[in-house]
Amino acid sequence: MEDPSEKMTRRQALSGLIVLPAMAGFLASTASVAQAKGSKSQYKYQDHPNGGNKCAGCRFFQAGKTKSANGTCQIVSGSISPNGWCIAFAAK
Ligand code: SF4
Repeated sequence: MEDPSEKMTRRQALSGLIVLPAMAGFLASTASVAQAKGSKSQYKYQDHPNGGNKCAGCRFFQAGKTKSANGTCQIVSGSISPNGWCIAFAAK
């Protein structure tokens, strides 16, 4: 007869085997995003807002010298308009 507490331990161990590789994959993808920027076409960048969303309100935008000047992006390469937008938009 199987001990219920032993069964629970085995279940927890199995779920850990599934979760750990998934976390490793997530961390690896996060690290690669931080290392290499993608192209504007890859991220379907446009120089105008999408609805109410624009680069100035995105967490990845790094502002230029003035509020209206182009800046840069942590994900997309090149000069980025504060009024632009791409598919990686993430609100601040
Ligand atoms: S991720 Fe996209 S929306 Fe966000 S700042 Fe970069 S180009 Fe703009």
